[in-house]
Amino acid sequence: MIDPHAMAQEFCELVRVDSPSLRESEVNALIHDRLAEMGIEARADDAAATVGGNASNLIARVPGVSGAPTVLLNAHTDTVEPGCGICPQIEDTVIRSSGTTVLGADDKAGCAIILATLRHLLDKGLPHPPLEVIFTVAEEIGLCGAQALDYGALEASMGYVLDGGRTMGVITHAAPSAYKFEWSVRGIAAHAGVCPERGLNSIKVAAEAIAELPLGRLDFETTANIGVIRGGEATNIVPELTVVRGEARSHSDEKLEAQRELMVRAFEEAAARHETTAEASVTSTYRSFDVARDEQVLDYAWRACERLGFDPQMERGGGGSDANVFNEHGIPSIILATGPAEVHTVNEWVDAQRMAESARWLTETLVLIAEEAQ
Ligand SMILES: [Zn+2]
Repeated sequence: MIDPHAMAQEFCELVRVDSPSLRESEVNALIHDRLAEMGIEARADDAAATVGGNASNLIARVPGVSGAPTVLLNAHTDTVEPGCGICPQIEDTVIRSSGTTVLGADDKAGCAIILATLRHLLDKGLPHPPLEVIFTVAEEIGLCGAQALDYGALEASMGYVLDGGRTMGVITHAAPSAYKFEWSVRGIAAHAGVCPERGLNSIKVAAEAIAELPLGRLDFETTANIGVIRGGEATNIVPELTVVRGEARSHSDEKLEAQRELMVRAFEEAAARHETTAEASVTSTYRSFDVARDEQVLDYAWRACERLGFDPQMERGGGGSDANVFNEHGIPSIILATGPAEVHTVNEWVDAQRMAESARWLTETLVLIAEEAQ
């Protein structure tokens, strides 16, 4: 059995160590030590140089039964702001932050679940497939750690990402593709009271473009947003430059492309009407994935969940995670529920009972994979 109280303790130890994105070195050292205590040697790759942080991804290999596919287990070690000085409050098995920071269960619940699962497998001598355990950095700022991995050096043919939601048994099997946009809308500066006719108001040009855009939930699988607008210097100057930033996401790549074109064109046309430019920079943030019910990685988790007497459920996610990157690199991966609620807010909380159930689920999944390989 995986004890919820031991789970809570390990989780609290992890969240007490600050690890905002790009400053994960201390918590990675802690995880490294926990793995070493189990006899598992972990090494850091060289992601720090690429992502610009103080830590790299932590990678551990655990040999398993022969004939079984190598399985990737993943959680990310960075947390969102405000995430420094987290002081977890435990009431029975429910853990909350003190109310001034996030709790960091996204994704230290996942880290704790992986550690508990490995400890349980090794302590009990349970059969399991060969494992590639990867603790990624800088997930929250654009899946940077996962993108910096050397995929040529990985053997995993399927992956479980422990970075899910609250309800036991929920499998996030699909996630959208996303684009980020930044436009630099050019105007002409002039004194707003003395000679405004010599100027061109870049805020007005940007506003015309934005007013034409369909935004929000565009259909059941597509969303778009303008999230940042910065322009102008003072009320008495016609603004020369306005920078606009936005995003679009869709589970359908076709719809995403259409929305991308529409957004870029709206700015081009508004700029053209005023004989100026709106330079667009468009970056693909991550690619969508959709793992089918009958694919191995999902089927194992599904049946393991049923073996434990829980109800497995498939859900489509609305955001990006390291699972997008693993899928893009040919490792079919799904996201398992880990227990946290209200993540990315100061009201974030998690029940250690849930985390323990999730660790049992992961354990059962791995045992099932090993049993069927023998
Ligand atoms: Zn996360």
